[in-house]
Amino acid sequence: MRRFLRKRVLLTGFLAVLVPLVILLTLQFRWLTRLEETSAIAEKASLNNYLNAVFNEIEYFYRSQAEHALNAPSYLLKRKPEKIELYFRKKAVDGARYLFVVPYVDRENWGGISVYNVAQRKLGKPDPDAAQAINVALSPWKMLAWRGSAVPSHDFSVDQMDDDNVLLLKPLTDNACQLQGMAGMVLDTTYFEEVVLPAAIEKSLPQSFNERERANLVVTVRDQWERLVFGGESDEEAPMQVSARVPFIFSDWTVALGSRFSTPEQLAQSNFLLNMSMSVLLAVVLLGGIVLALRTASREIHLSNMKADFVSNVSHELRTPLASIRVFGEFLRLGRVEDEGKVREYGEYIETESRRLTQLINNILDFSKIESGAKTYEFREDNLHSVVADTLHTMEVGLKHMGFELEFVEPVEPLPSVRMDRDAITQALANLVENAVKYSNGSKKIRVRLEQDDGCAVIAVRDWGCGISSGEQKKIFERFHRVGTGQVHDVKGSGLGLSIVSHIVKAHGGIVEVTSEPGAGSTFRLHLPCGVRTTGEQRDAPPAVGTVQPMGKT
Ligand code: ADP
Repeated sequence: MRRFLRKRVLLTGFLAVLVPLVILLTLQFRWLTRLEETSAIAEKASLNNYLNAVFNEIEYFYRSQAEHALNAPSYLLKRKPEKIELYFRKKAVDGARYLFVVPYVDRENWGGISVYNVAQRKLGKPDPDAAQAINVALSPWKMLAWRGSAVPSHDFSVDQMDDDNVLLLKPLTDNACQLQGMAGMVLDTTYFEEVVLPAAIEKSLPQSFNERERANLVVTVRDQWERLVFGGESDEEAPMQVSARVPFIFSDWTVALGSRFSTPEQLAQSNFLLNMSMSVLLAVVLLGGIVLALRTASREIHLSNMKADFVSNVSHELRTPLASIRVFGEFLRLGRVEDEGKVREYGEYIETESRRLTQLINNILDFSKIESGAKTYEFREDNLHSVVADTLHTMEVGLKHMGFELEFVEPVEPLPSVRMDRDAITQALANLVENAVKYSNGSKKIRVRLEQDDGCAVIAVRDWGCGISSGEQKKIFERFHRVGTGQVHDVKGSGLGLSIVSHIVKAHGGIVEVTSEPGAGSTFRLHLPCGVRTTGEQRDAPPAVGTVQPMGKT
């Protein structure tokens, strides 16, 4: 299990983040769905609370007015009209047209009614409708008094039989709670509509809603005839969410609340969508970050594996030729080899192996310079033909000794001179020929062609070896990369050769390309521009010393 986890460390890491994230998102989805439902209900509840606050304001207003004006002492009933008028004048109230008191006489009769006109500030006759409404409203009380029932004197009663003459009544009783008379007020409907209602609505708004909510809110009031008496918007413009009848007084009027822009359900839904999309966005960003981190980690693991292979490969590459050189050197020192041919052969062998070791060490040194950014090139106008010919010449002996046939196809016409670092180009070419040998897979033929193509001098190294699959062809230029399968398995190498070739060619402003087919061999082509400035070259300082960036990932 532990081995499996270590092997699949990246996948495990990814799953370790993904699974909790998916669970979290699912839970979040469920919570938000529930929240969406409850917040719509809560929104409606707050609308209802607001309605209650408006109703409380209305009730409070009329109760306090009635409290003030109708709490008359029962002896007032026996006083002269002037006294009653004086009493009511002192008790000026808002929202009433008439105030009145009437003494109870017997089952059949009320005594003389004293009606005080609030607007005129004197006793007088009420208008016929108001008089009628007062008469009708008093009848049930007469019945109550005749029965001798105790009358609760502390509360007000409302009579709304006539919509235009709504009455607030207060029974006046003696100490034994027996009805002595009635006090009452005929309410002013216009005052209710124009003053009391708007004031209650406005006063309660800031207590229940913030400014943004208020902008979305529409309050409408309709009277008993469904006539819109408050609020301009129709139901189509702002669908009503909650409505209720005014309790206590004017109770056939309806106050309704609606939303101008969005209903509580829409609001809850948009909150849900906002929260959910934020969560998903965060999850995506998080996953993106994790994928990036894992990719970097995966590259680092890959690189560290390649470095480990590199160390083991290089140690092997160094140890094998050194062992042979030591053995052949000992033979020669001890004078055990007398045959001159053999002496030359051993000498050649030692020379070839030493050259290979030098090549390997050069590669390693170059690589470390390139990695640290300290690699410099000395560019000069030079004859590429002679550089290639010299390099091949020095390698020829060794190659022949290994049985290789090296063919050099020279250019048909002389090449123009190329600005280059002679040693670097020599090293690049040597690396390619070395590879052609290493990956020859038994074929003993190598062809190097020098030609001109589209303003470039091209060095092409062709072999008929194991070839490279198309999937690997780009990767082989990465540092430490080695093809890990097939016959190449057995061939030792550092994985640096081609990355150095690529770096050198780039520094010369050129490109390197490979065409290859597994089993049929490969051709590496170095395109070096003729007469083009090279990377990092100083304009007026030939020979130029150029540097290029560390290789990183080639
Ligand atoms: P190495 O030290 O492994 O040869 P290189 O950077 O020179 O490192 O090459 C990288 C890989 O490219 C090699 O491991 C090999 O698999 C492949 N390769 C390079 N040249 C050839 C070639 N001529 N034929 C087949 N494969 C090659």
